[in-house]
Amino acid sequence: MAERKVSFDRDKARAEGKHKDFLKFLGTAGARFVMIKQLRHSGGIWLSIKGTQVLIDPGPGSLVRCLSSRPKLEPASLDGIILTHRHIDHCNDINVMIEAMTEGGFKKRGTVFCPQDALEGDPVIFKYLRGFVDKIEVLEEWRKYSVNKFEFETSMRHIHPAQTYGLKFELNNRTVGLLTDTRSFEDLKDFYKVHTLIMSVVFPEKRPGIDHLSLEEAKELIPILKPKRVILTHFGMRMIAAKPRLQAEKLSQGLGIEVIAATDGMTLT
Ligand SMILES: [Zn+2]
Ligand SMILES: [Zn+2]
Repeated sequence: MAERKVSFDRDKARAEGKHKDFLKFLGTAGARFVMIKQLRHSGGIWLSIKGTQVLIDPGPGSLVRCLSSRPKLEPASLDGIILTHRHIDHCNDINVMIEAMTEGGFKKRGTVFCPQDALEGDPVIFKYLRGFVDKIEVLEEWRKYSVNKFEFETSMRHIHPAQTYGLKFELNNRTVGLLTDTRSFEDLKDFYKVHTLIMSVVFPEKRPGIDHLSLEEAKELIPILKPKRVILTHFGMRMIAAKPRLQAEKLSQGLGIEVIAATDGMTLT
């Protein structure tokens, strides 16, 4: 813990963030090996929307990615942290980010949103940190949540080996869906009809019995969901080997819509 209280001009940061809402990928790694070798970073996604700062899925290295981001993303400006599920590639840095958001625990503030299983059993959020934040809100399926002016909805529970929820929110008047880890299933169409769809695509080909989306399944899902723009992320080893940018181009040509492969540090406005 820091010896010294570090002050931070939150109002100034808010004012600066006011005009330019954005979403920044602090990492695009998916699954084990890309993460542990850091072939892609695994810091999660930072949102700056209507002056509200939110971090989604602070995986390994998230704190470092925030501080080394240009311009720097100040953890003490965060208003909320959202955890889609408790897997280590999504939650590893959540404790240190709580510590940073609350300026070492000296400023009680911020909201943490997480599924119930992140708090129980073998919890991924340390008990001693829970009192540092204003609120911990448990995510459930098909619910609406907010922190300051930022509002988001949760999807149905995904089919994945932990309580997992995708998200939907607005960025500059366009709906963005974050289709996080899941097996492909038909009901996804009931939630993810959005303008911009961010998809966790771990493998190129289908792998039955593994609860992750493949590029093949994304190809089948996209015409059903009909987004205007797709962003692929959360790449596993075989996706990296298949060159995500090339795959995105092929998909784009095949489907006739904009498909982008996310890169570390990529910003969306
Ligand atoms: Zn994951
Ligand atoms: Zn997962």
